[in-house]
Amino acid sequence: MTAALKASGPVPQPGIMDISVYVPGESHVPSGMVPVKLSSNENPLGPSPKAIAAFKKAAESLERYPDGGATELRQAIARVYGLDANRLVCGAGSDELIGILTHAYVGTGDETLFPEHGFLMYKIATMANGGTPITAPEKNLRTDVDALLARVTPRTKLVYLANPNNPTGTYIPFEEVRRLHAGLPKSVILVLDAAYCEYVRRNDYEAGIELVGTSDNVVMMRTFSKIHGLAALRLGWAYCPPGIADVLNRVRGPFNVSAPAIAAGIAAIEDRAHQEAAINHNEKWLPWVTAELEKLDLKVTPSVGNFILIHFPATGAKTAATADTYLKARAIIVRAVGAYKLPHCLRMTIGTEAENRAVVAALTAFMAGPA
Ligand SMILES: *Cc1c(COP(=O)(O)O)cnc(C)c1O
Repeated sequence: MTAALKASGPVPQPGIMDISVYVPGESHVPSGMVPVKLSSNENPLGPSPKAIAAFKKAAESLERYPDGGATELRQAIARVYGLDANRLVCGAGSDELIGILTHAYVGTGDETLFPEHGFLMYKIATMANGGTPITAPEKNLRTDVDALLARVTPRTKLVYLANPNNPTGTYIPFEEVRRLHAGLPKSVILVLDAAYCEYVRRNDYEAGIELVGTSDNVVMMRTFSKIHGLAALRLGWAYCPPGIADVLNRVRGPFNVSAPAIAAGIAAIEDRAHQEAAINHNEKWLPWVTAELEKLDLKVTPSVGNFILIHFPATGAKTAATADTYLKARAIIVRAVGAYKLPHCLRMTIGTEAENRAVVAALTAFMAGPA
């Protein structure tokens, strides 16, 4: 062995050291204050009480490995949505499913494609596997199907589409999703990340179940972290063509979903009343917060999710960064989205009534302050 080889340390695969570490929504506030945490699009109502009970019950047998196939959970999801359980794969959050799908299909020299303000995990998963992330411009902070299609190359392996998108809160109608799919080569997988689909109240929207069922190259990702209020448990599912489900099952860890997560997930997916309550809460407060902030002359991108993107002036005393600091000093945590190429915006989750009122009051005082 040469001296140089002996002296050099372990070196990770190409691309990995170019990844910017994902910075989660903050949760720290000045000591002694109760945080108003609106930085990660969590459910202000929390999980279903039935899911909490199932989680506690699972604590009685923690010495046992979970069912590696998460069979009962997949069957429960299949029943609720009328799907084939064999085409479902569960993961430790949809983040893990995005990771293993990308690992299975993307390698050095390959490209993935997504809208310019798309979810950060797409870029991270691509680079972790030596791939090259390609972004397509959006129109009015909305996915532009033509711009995506124009960037497909022979190296494109995956197209990720969060619909609705985080952090913009915008969506594209199902006709547009279909047009995107129709324009892709059969060798490219269209990944429909429907993390917020339950919140959408639009006649021209669909999460993508039908498209997965009728094609060989579409996968839909869903999560228990948002509408089900189970972000702490890390649980998500993918609905896949049989061939892709088979691939994911080969690549995933054999016990990638924990027993308490499986138990809570079954209770959550079956508790329609709790999901309805979360939707109704959002239906009430999303328009209220939007309207109140617009009264302050703040632009808010119309959202169909459980969060909003608030635009601040690029210069002067009322920038997004100044507002962020101002809110944080009052224990209100929202999300700076500079990493999403939106440096003049803040993203805010729709919270409880008290939380929403606290944000509006704080931003009212902020905007009334010295110019
Ligand atoms: C929150 C979110 C997810 C869910 O991630 P989990 O790993 O399931 O918690 C997936 N995609 C988008 C766009 C999200 O905003």
